Amino acid sequence: MSINWDAINWFSQNELECKCGCQSLKKGKATINLELITKLDELRSRCGFPLRVNSALRCAKHNSNPKVGGHPTSAHVDTGEGCMAVDLGVDRAKGRIVLQHALEMDCFEGIGLAQSGKGSRFIHLDIKPRGGNKALWTYS
Ligand SMILES: [Zn+2]
Repeated sequence: MSINWDAINWFSQNELECKCGCQSLKKGKATINLELITKLDELRSRCGFPLRVNSALRCAKHNSNPKVGGHPTSAHVDTGEGCMAVDLGVDRAKGRIVLQHALEMDCFEGIGLAQSGKGSRFIHLDIKPRGGNKALWTYS
């Protein structure tokens, strides 16, 4: 399904594009799950401040890049339902607000927190089904 980007208030196709330069989104080789982009847009409205997208869609090649360190079955990869995950570059006070709203929305199946001192701080959100078992994890 193609996305009507005009209906998305806060995010552009470019922001959610694969970061490797393959232009999978632009070329229509992959897409973003409509529910994910809709919920992400709502989350941005609730937060009231910009949300930097560190990573959304990843082609399989980019996901397997050791520098990216994507899980082999990562929700960032479009395997037919579109990209179902986004990593938002937020931390500290704003990170807490993002987490609070994400929990209140109760629509994200997976929430991953990278908020330690070293490395990049981000919050992963995905809508990948896990049989009704919502997941929470941290990155070591
Ligand atoms: Zn790519």
